[in-house]
Amino acid sequence: MTPTRETFGNIPQSSQWAFYILAVVSTGVFAYGVWRRYQLWRQGQPVGWRELGITALRNMPTLLRRRPRPAAPAAAEIDAPPTLTHLSNQMELKAAIGPGVKRVLVDGLGQQRVKGRGAAGRAHIALFAGFMLLLLGTTLLELDHIAGWISKNLQFHHGTYYVVYEFVLDIAGLFFLLGCGYFLWRRTRRPASVGHRGSDWFVLGTFIAIGVTGYVIEALRIVWQQPHGIAAQCSPVGLWLSQAFAGLGEPGARQWHLAAWWAHALLIFGFFAAIPFTRLFHFIAGPLNLFLSRPAMGQLQPVTMEEVERTGRVGVNDIRQFTFQQLLSLDACMECGRCEDACPAFATGKPLSPKRVVQDLKHLMQDTLGAGPTAAAPRALHGETIAAETLWACTTCSACVDICPVRIDQLRLILDLRRHLANEGGLSGTAATTLRRMQSAANPWGLPASERAAWRPVATPPPAPAAAAEPASSR
Ligand code: SF4
Ligand code: SF4
Repeated sequence: MTPTRETFGNIPQSSQWAFYILAVVSTGVFAYGVWRRYQLWRQGQPVGWRELGITALRNMPTLLRRRPRPAAPAAAEIDAPPTLTHLSNQMELKAAIGPGVKRVLVDGLGQQRVKGRGAAGRAHIALFAGFMLLLLGTTLLELDHIAGWISKNLQFHHGTYYVVYEFVLDIAGLFFLLGCGYFLWRRTRRPASVGHRGSDWFVLGTFIAIGVTGYVIEALRIVWQQPHGIAAQCSPVGLWLSQAFAGLGEPGARQWHLAAWWAHALLIFGFFAAIPFTRLFHFIAGPLNLFLSRPAMGQLQPVTMEEVERTGRVGVNDIRQFTFQQLLSLDACMECGRCEDACPAFATGKPLSPKRVVQDLKHLMQDTLGAGPTAAAPRALHGETIAAETLWACTTCSACVDICPVRIDQLRLILDLRRHLANEGGLSGTAATTLRRMQSAANPWGLPASERAAWRPVATPPPAPAAAAEPASSR
């Protein structure tokens, strides 16, 4: 007999309809939560990437349209404008979205930037891989179900595919639960660099309950369905757990199966609806930030006169003066504490934590912009939210930017704020003196330029290596 199982087996039609209605409600809550966050970001300054993305999307139909292969063109026609236009669109599209897509695939899906933090990094990869496989499995199951509405012949959830599918998902569930178990244990230890909120317990509890109820459903199905051979063995964890429920018999197993199925479904809908309102929102904001961020390690963005004339300011004095991407990046932070651990200023006891800066700005964004575009700031950005000492403590080493798994540019945030302070005359001490001397005397010591020859260090240059190596006889 071909190994398979019926989707929604043992689930009455009324429960199936209720399931789909709840799915729509959960998706609605999710969409509302994402829309609310988007409303916060869009009050920031528009960035080029947004326009480029829109341009790329507009160009997409042109690029996707299949152009008839022309008959061998005459030499004069080879550089015909339509071909060049198409190529130029392709190049523009590639330049606009290529690096962003690569970052999403490599850093996001490939979890490249999560590695390197010992067990926590490995646990995140296990949790993420398990989650993604389970999500893919659920999607495939639903596709098979929809295919069955059209024609039974279109269904694919049977045979070798079924065996591989069940086995992979059974093992993926283990990875998922192992990752969750590690983070549950770690949260009880409360490492100082990692953020802690009450909703984190809800998230982890929901994840673990989803994983456990998934296995219970599997075990109870095996009890009432009694599959044999490979059809049972392809779910090793479910098969092992089914021994605990063997005494229920078929009617009892069917009853409990329906109850466990509903518990599992409600947990999934609750989790999905909660994504925009908990730390889980980094599922959405993280990949978006990876796509939109323009990492330029070690390069400080110049302030141009055109920009100053256009905006009438230098730096940032209001949360709305950050860009759309910068505000979005605040929501991508998962408070993992990596940037804080890497920060030399924090390590030497200076009043600076890049994680704290990101979180403080995020809270200000919520409090200020959450009430609408005309809302007055509940507290000042400078002084009340971020202290000047915090900003001046940064060494601009970029270690925080380099290590952030979702490529938040903490340094750019700090520099934008710092530039405003510098413009307002907030510089003091040796930095201010140096700049004043540079302005008046074109050197940081303030020595008279007219006497430059006198104070310039006079050193006899060493002989050039080639000249030194040249044999005396050849002169
Ligand atoms: S750039 Fe500034 S905030 Fe970031 S790690 Fe270096 S000192 Fe810390
Ligand atoms: S800014 Fe990045 S590295 Fe720092 S806590 Fe947030 S996600 Fe982690």
